[in-house]
Amino acid sequence: MSQTEIPYSVLAPGPVNLHPKVLEALSLPMIHHRTPEFDRIFKKVLVQLKEVFSTSEAVYTLSTTGSGGMEALLVNTLSPGDQVLAVVSGKFGERWAEMSEAFGARVHQLKLPWGEALDPELVRLHLEKNPHTRAVLSQACETSTGVLHPIKALGEVVKSHPDCLLLVDGITAVGSLPLPMDLWHIDGLVAGSQKAFMLPTGLSFVSFSKKAQSFWHRAKMNKYYLDIRKEKLANDKGETHFSSSVSLIRALSVVLDLILQQGLENLHHQILQRALRFREGLSLLNLELYTQSPSPSLTAFRTGPQFDSQKLRTQLEEEFRITIMGGQDQAKGKILRVGHMGHISLQEERNLLEAMWKIFHASGKFQGDESRWHHFLTQRLPGTQRQERHL
Ligand SMILES: *Cc1c(COP(=O)(O)O)cnc(C)c1O
Repeated sequence: MSQTEIPYSVLAPGPVNLHPKVLEALSLPMIHHRTPEFDRIFKKVLVQLKEVFSTSEAVYTLSTTGSGGMEALLVNTLSPGDQVLAVVSGKFGERWAEMSEAFGARVHQLKLPWGEALDPELVRLHLEKNPHTRAVLSQACETSTGVLHPIKALGEVVKSHPDCLLLVDGITAVGSLPLPMDLWHIDGLVAGSQKAFMLPTGLSFVSFSKKAQSFWHRAKMNKYYLDIRKEKLANDKGETHFSSSVSLIRALSVVLDLILQQGLENLHHQILQRALRFREGLSLLNLELYTQSPSPSLTAFRTGPQFDSQKLRTQLEEEFRITIMGGQDQAKGKILRVGHMGHISLQEERNLLEAMWKIFHASGKFQGDESRWHHFLTQRLPGTQRQERHL
């Protein structure tokens, strides 16, 4: 294999490594989207998606990245001038607040220090003082900081306000961790293909509770492509309103089969176990988590003053062909983020930690306990066969 043929180990919080069966599905010859064959696939996908969302409502598949799905939740439920409370605890919270402003909502930002999880009590107080609030927006997991917010408790708060919706960006949560839409009173939920769905970027999935559906007819925000009522009419016939992303949806069908065959809980369990192994490794490398409330879907950690996180990231990318992510904005240069979603082998988990150990040791600024390290690797990440990714 030449250097360029060795696949990257994409351990980012999206996009992620693709499953081999997904790669296969993506290389199939094209079929038209208005055919019985495609309709069969799409109808099956629509049923399976409901299971992943844990909802009895319809889940819509849009040919947009995750942000398009976030937009769909807003424009189908809100009107210009509506009051919205946006939980802003990082980049993606900022994005949703900006998006709502762009569509004319009056946005109150509940700003949290980066790395901190939401206290739902703050939302309860805000809604008490501002009874005309039409929606609360929150990430389930804020991917820029790795924080997991208490969505179940937030659902308990918002459900007692009959004219206010809880809209949740579950893009790094759906499929990664328990986020039962119906049970937790989530009114709008969005997921994205390049995270726990193990697909390339390009699809988003959205669902609306009954309460949120009752907002559709009065939602006056401008929309055309993302008008969910048109999508609903098409979906009822097993079609999408516009051209379907046939290749991605065929690959989605493969992933949903895989996920539901092994069970959703099993996927959650796998992702959590990866996160726990990685965090154990971090502690042996004397590295600290960025947040006290980490999400299983990714781990954000501080690199400390002695290591330059951007440099470490570049070294992993160029010398080891392992992709992880740095911090954004105020966390830039301070943290690194490793995703636990996607098709990841134990060997790849091990390769990442070993590469970090090597880089730290070579720097001369780190003295780890070698025997504890080897014990950890042998016990927790037993190598299958030595698949050298170091070039
Ligand atoms: C990845 C991600 C998005 C996604 O955006 P794209 O439009 O797919 O780039 C939105 N929110 C969160 C929390 C994410 O992790």
